[in-house]
Amino acid sequence: MGVYSYSKLDTFEKCKLKYKYKYIDKIIPKIPKSIEAHLGSCVHETLEWLYKQVLNGDVPLINEVIEDYSERWIKNYTPDIAINSSNLKLEDYFNKGIEFLLKYYLKHKPFNDNTLFLEEKIELDLLDKETKSENKIIGYVDRISFNEKNNEIEIHDYKTSSTMFQKEMTETSKQLAIYSMAAKKIFGEDKNVCLIWHFLAYDNEIIIRKNKEELEEVKDELIKLIKEIENTTNFPPNPSKLCNWCEYKDICPYSKLVC
Ligand code: SF4
Repeated sequence: MGVYSYSKLDTFEKCKLKYKYKYIDKIIPKIPKSIEAHLGSCVHETLEWLYKQVLNGDVPLINEVIEDYSERWIKNYTPDIAINSSNLKLEDYFNKGIEFLLKYYLKHKPFNDNTLFLEEKIELDLLDKETKSENKIIGYVDRISFNEKNNEIEIHDYKTSSTMFQKEMTETSKQLAIYSMAAKKIFGEDKNVCLIWHFLAYDNEIIIRKNKEELEEVKDELIKLIKEIENTTNFPPNPSKLCNWCEYKDICPYSKLVC
């Protein structure tokens, strides 16, 4: 049985050479953690802490939330964390996190949207009826809640990047379909599921839903994609503007074509 994650599948679709470096050769890239990744993990951890307090019956005050974030920022910070922007300093990134949390707090307080799980592992089994081969897709979701009014399971995903996806892009993403199918496995096929992407930098959300037919379509695509991965022996590069953010650009000879 092959075990896949959404990012593993996505890497294969975007650049097969990167897939080989990462998942076959298992090369650990020699690049320091970026400041964006540090900011993202501190904000995610603080939001997880916030909802844990809420589940325990205590809504933290905004200054307690900021204090938690500040402590994580200091505890997780290491001097090798890279700042690639020429016009932003370390404190600007720190302040961005405060701004994200402040806006989120004011919008969602008292956080009573029926949170069920935090940082939940989800699994989706995929059976290829032709070959009888069984595969699994695993992933972690930031938060799952139940909207009683809509009788709908909500999967929340926090985004701290400064790029907001276009709704059309998110609708075609396989990620939602994987999450929806996995959530239906946990909560029942009759449950409606939606994915809420919280774009914290924009204080905005994108909500996506998929119907049964669309889910079946994606399921078939996933089975086909995994079959292709398992039969692939040739891993050509796919140089594009994404090479600029590729962790293997220093060892990849093709990155120079675009970077
Ligand atoms: S640098 Fe570009 S071409 Fe090379 S592995 Fe990364 S994404 Fe692929």
